Amino acid sequence: MGQKLVSFDTDRIKEYVFATDKLKEIRGASAILDELNRWDMVEKSRKFNAEKIYANGGSGMFRVHATSAKALMQALEREYRLKTRTGSITSAIAELPDGFTNQDAVQPYLQRLAYRLRLKKDENILNQPLLTHSYLRTCDSCGEQYASHSVTNPEPELLCGSCKNKRDKNDEVKADIQAIISGKATEAMKHKLWHRLLHDLKGEGYKIKEKNRPEDFGDLGEMSNPQNYMGLIYADGDSMGKALEELNNLDEVKQFSRVVDDAIYQAVREAICAYLPPGDKYLPFDILMLGGDDLAMVTTAHKAIEVSMKIAEKFSELTQKGLSKSLTLSIGAAITHTTFPFSSLLTLAEGALKFAKKEAAKRKRHGRETSKEGLINFIVVSNSNSLDFDTYHSETLSDEDQNLYRTIRPYSLADMRYIVETIRYLKRKNFPRGKLKGLQDVVFQSINQSLLEGLTFLKSTKDEEQPRLFIKFLERFATNQPPYPFPWFQDGGDYYTPFLDLIELYDFIEAK
Ligand SMILES: [Zn+2]
Repeated sequence: MGQKLVSFDTDRIKEYVFATDKLKEIRGASAILDELNRWDMVEKSRKFNAEKIYANGGSGMFRVHATSAKALMQALEREYRLKTRTGSITSAIAELPDGFTNQDAVQPYLQRLAYRLRLKKDENILNQPLLTHSYLRTCDSCGEQYASHSVTNPEPELLCGSCKNKRDKNDEVKADIQAIISGKATEAMKHKLWHRLLHDLKGEGYKIKEKNRPEDFGDLGEMSNPQNYMGLIYADGDSMGKALEELNNLDEVKQFSRVVDDAIYQAVREAICAYLPPGDKYLPFDILMLGGDDLAMVTTAHKAIEVSMKIAEKFSELTQKGLSKSLTLSIGAAITHTTFPFSSLLTLAEGALKFAKKEAAKRKRHGRETSKEGLINFIVVSNSNSLDFDTYHSETLSDEDQNLYRTIRPYSLADMRYIVETIRYLKRKNFPRGKLKGLQDVVFQSINQSLLEGLTFLKSTKDEEQPRLFIKFLERFATNQPPYPFPWFQDGGDYYTPFLDLIELYDFIEAK
């Protein structure tokens, strides 16, 4: 008998990690999945003499003797249920021909696996059991599952097994971190994400001594400028499916998966070293999900954009180095008050990310130049009426009846950098905040009124240099030749302006 490939993928991974708005549960869930994926699954597979092709970011693939494939698949599924309680994976098997090596053409088998996985996932969704025992009390934290544990921390709460499990894991990681910081890390800790990260940060001179992860989002808000704001960075790899289809054999699959997983980790680590030095008590960031080509992290508000830029830059650089072909990330960054419900913030960041992807595809279709580091989108939530990015874009950022577009998001890395530098320049020059606010009002007026007031704005700036700066800024993003109907440029019959984007970010970029 020959060999088989067993592949698995976590079901509704985001629903599991972000089941509640509480940082400690999100963190616990993330740690459970990371360990399961990178460690527990691989340990299990050893019992079946399986060869790991990859295991990270919620999915994995093993090569195993045909007679053990089904047992391995069941063992992996069981392990997931056991460790997560409410989480699950879907797995599938594909047979390899006799004598198949890791250098043989593997695409037909990978495609078969992907197809089987898809079918099984769709089937599982239809078979979701609906629990309706309304007389049972539901969990105080997730409100979904039935409460089975009472805890006091500090208020008494009734929790379900899954939430309790996540909190316990968070406590465990917290204790481990204390051990690492005081130099008492054990060998067993080294496979865990936070341990590896702290170890590596420490090695680069990052001062972790006596620092802790933020207890809740409020701690991030206290370190932010302006205070009580935070940023959520949500990123994932572009066209990963297509890149996978271009791999020839299992050795290439192994290498691809390792390079991508390492690249996102290294990119995050370098961004932390460059932009997120520790605060007095806490680290000014937390990582909620990291692995494969996925990232969700929170940071202090005034660092979210620079961290996003650094991650985008490094990811393409490191994949270029490791694969001789650069891959890109799309990034959605959402900045908001720390009291804003986390689940809504997540929806916004995810929406911003998806919008960036759609826009990248559109630009490609129209033959326009696409960014070699991917596109960065952002949203600053100043009022609660924008609950998803698409609505914000169609209702606030654009006015299709008048052909007005008050944004040119998402941005390439170079353009994003230009915006950040312009903000810094204006801040250094003490450009009046009120005047920018005035410009913001201008872009919300009818086209004729805005042209009139745009001119007034340019004339009212105090020296010659400033109007030139604003015109240059517009020029940078214009798709045609001057003169421009300030504060707009025209493309076909449509009017576009980049100024609202600059103004929205203004408070969240430091002068330096
Ligand atoms: Zn719960």
